Amino acid sequence: MKRIYLDHAATTPTHAEVVKAMLPYFTDAFGNPSSIHSYGQEAKGAVEEARTKVAELIGARSEEIIFTSGGTEADNYALKGVAYANERKGNHIITSPIEHHAMTEACKFLEKRGFRITCLPVDRYGLVDPQDVKRAITDKTILISVMHASNEVGTIEPVDEIGKIAREAGVYLHSDAVQTVGHIPVNVDELNVDLLVISAHKLYGPKGVGALYVRKGTRLVSLMHGGGQEKKRRAGTENVPAIVGLGKAVELARHDLGEEARRLSYLRDKLVKGLGERIDHIHLNGHPSQRLPNNVNVSVDFAEGESMVLNLDLEGICVSTGSACSSASLEPSHALLALGLSPEQAHGSLRFSLGRENNEEDVERVLEILPGIVAKLRAMSPLSKSIR
Ligand code: PLP
Repeated sequence: MKRIYLDHAATTPTHAEVVKAMLPYFTDAFGNPSSIHSYGQEAKGAVEEARTKVAELIGARSEEIIFTSGGTEADNYALKGVAYANERKGNHIITSPIEHHAMTEACKFLEKRGFRITCLPVDRYGLVDPQDVKRAITDKTILISVMHASNEVGTIEPVDEIGKIAREAGVYLHSDAVQTVGHIPVNVDELNVDLLVISAHKLYGPKGVGALYVRKGTRLVSLMHGGGQEKKRRAGTENVPAIVGLGKAVELARHDLGEEARRLSYLRDKLVKGLGERIDHIHLNGHPSQRLPNNVNVSVDFAEGESMVLNLDLEGICVSTGSACSSASLEPSHALLALGLSPEQAHGSLRFSLGRENNEEDVERVLEILPGIVAKLRAMSPLSKSIR
């Protein structure tokens, strides 16, 4: 049976070119970038080349890029790094209720240590209102953090407008751009951000590597102390093969950014339309148009997300319910609840996230298989009597 992978928001397959680019750095070019001999300099050169590529993709300078172990570390670094570096100025942080757990848990950590966190509401599409941000700023506010796009419902936030407000108020703005970098254009100056987070495995790079953009002049304390790597901002021997992989992934993404986004938007819209035509009592979650080109998130009344995922998996179709991190638990997704969905609607959610290897046939296969699964599950659900 052909397997169809529609869970690219959880992770993407590593591109063959990326693997090829990484391999020499495990074998012949294994040097430590801190060594001054030729092996070391070869590795250092590769790291710096990757840094330049990442910086170019987001309109930054290479010295503003810090490599990390992924999105989670970069989010933690941004939040805690700014919080502890600016404690004397204030202790107030503004964020949104749809952030990834890397942010929400780091916020809880800071809250227990005396920082005050304002979590703004979002509308039914998951959008933060920039005017709410403006109203929430006080003279103690040191950081605003709003993700660029939701990993769950795909809504793209008005980060540029929030950035203007942050700049006027002299407050740093951080944005988790894990789901957007490499998928839609991201430019740190256009977004007016001071800190931005990237994860390689969401853009066909390897897992366990990411980057934090830090605008020059941003006050940040380091979380990792040790050697002088990353200009003393993140100690520890660099993961050279992974960093090279991130650089290659970024280069490939840059090459076909607009074209791939258009192709995926077409498939996304076909899937949304097809699902609406074939399944009744189904609702699109997230913004109808201001959303990621590859994201379709729906709630299906009277059908459980977990059961739909498992039944689809038996047919070779891999999707998720809620986010990858929360789908292991039966807690309804905090992001879906923040949009105003009931726990039942959140439990009945399915997220399809399309990617490079998907085509129209894959979408047609979902449209052929899912209605039967939903009908079967509803037939077993006492609650669905009302619609039968
Ligand atoms: N932020 C967002 C929006 C994500 O979707 C993810 C991964 O699911 C992360 C952060 C964490 O990134 P990583 O898996 O590289 O730690």
